[in-house]
Amino acid sequence: MGKVGKQGEKTKKSGGLTRLAAEVFDKDRCSVCGACVGRCPYIVYSEGRVILQDRCTLDEGRCYDFCPMAGAKGNFEGPLGTVKQVLIARSTRSDVRKKAQYGGVVSTLVALALREGLVKEAILTSGHPEDPPYGVRVRTKAAVLDSAGSRFAAAGTVAALNEALAEPGSFPLALVGLPCQVKAAAAMRASKTRDVPFRPKRIKLLIGLFCTWALEYRSLSRYLRYMLFGERAFHYDIPPPPASVFKVFTGDGIKAFPLDEIEPMRLNACRFCDDMTSTRADVSVGSVEGLDGWNTVLIRTAEGNRLVEMAAEKKLIKIDRLPQSDLEHLKEAADLKKQRGLSAWEEKD
Ligand SMILES: Cc1cc2nc3c(=O)[nH]c(=O)nc-3n(C[C@H](O)[C@H](O)[C@H](O)COP(=O)(O)OP(=O)(O)OC[C@H]3O[C@@H](n4cnc5c(N)ncnc54)[C@H](O)[C@@H]3O)c2cc1C
Repeated sequence: MGKVGKQGEKTKKSGGLTRLAAEVFDKDRCSVCGACVGRCPYIVYSEGRVILQDRCTLDEGRCYDFCPMAGAKGNFEGPLGTVKQVLIARSTRSDVRKKAQYGGVVSTLVALALREGLVKEAILTSGHPEDPPYGVRVRTKAAVLDSAGSRFAAAGTVAALNEALAEPGSFPLALVGLPCQVKAAAAMRASKTRDVPFRPKRIKLLIGLFCTWALEYRSLSRYLRYMLFGERAFHYDIPPPPASVFKVFTGDGIKAFPLDEIEPMRLNACRFCDDMTSTRADVSVGSVEGLDGWNTVLIRTAEGNRLVEMAAEKKLIKIDRLPQSDLEHLKEAADLKKQRGLSAWEEKD
């Protein structure tokens, strides 16, 4: 039984590939976060999927340790987790806002952390909207902006973090990720692994995204190929409720598809997720209902607070108050996801 640490984090669990396969892959519960990729030669990320190429019989393998879907079943905190401060914000820079999904707060914070030397490298998610998304390692503002915007398919991003952690050197790292990816990276950061050269204490900053679900890349790609008749998509958006559409930006204008048609393409693993706001992050960022071009920001730790304050002091972001009614609504939505996730675990086991 694992020890439960700060923020309900499981700090120790053990298993090998057989256990990972039985608990996660054979039950179609892989969230494609990438935490196991690069930690075992038999596991690869390809075409938007994490694939087990072979089985091994080790009881204690490095693949199992940080899988967000293995071992633990849900956290027992409130729906939003630990929050020190809630606000709305947006970038003041047009070059950032032009490329960002909403207010560009995520790209601003990452670029600032790199510029100020708080971290030397950030793990982001990149890829043309029509191709499988993947984790990238970036060190400059230009590279941060190249990865701005949302790819709505699951991306195996943590594989790039594993690659960076396995390299010699002591450079500090940041990761931007979905709740499952942040959960894996937070478990790494909290772990006392002696697995040299994998040194997860180098993870200094976790920026979490809000997420209701992520899509399965191949299903989305098939659907859009069929629906767009060969037109190229260059940007996607799922505007906040009540819109209920998946918007695809093409050279021929914006096409809106009903969310009811898109939702069945979500990953099965997302049914089990009880975390809408990346509760293990230092700072979490999402959209603002009814306010285009702004982000909701949840500051959770001293590190997160320092970075947001620095961005505001340097006038890189403009900050405002989140109306109480919006906060209540966010709590309701997060609680709904939490209850759904916890019930899914109950049903299956
Ligand atoms: C699959 C998915 C589901 C989401 N669901 C919701 C939701 O239900 N409610 C809500 O309010 N917000 C949701 N978001 C978050 C939202 O789309 C924005 O990412 C967030 O508001 C930050 O906006 P920004 O303008 O600061 O982002 P930007 O400055 O444009 O930065 C976006 C960052 O997201 C990263 N990213 C892009 N795609 C992925 C991916 N597939 N996996 C991991 N990281 C990625 C990029 O690396 C980039 O650094 C979701 C995002 C994704 C990717």
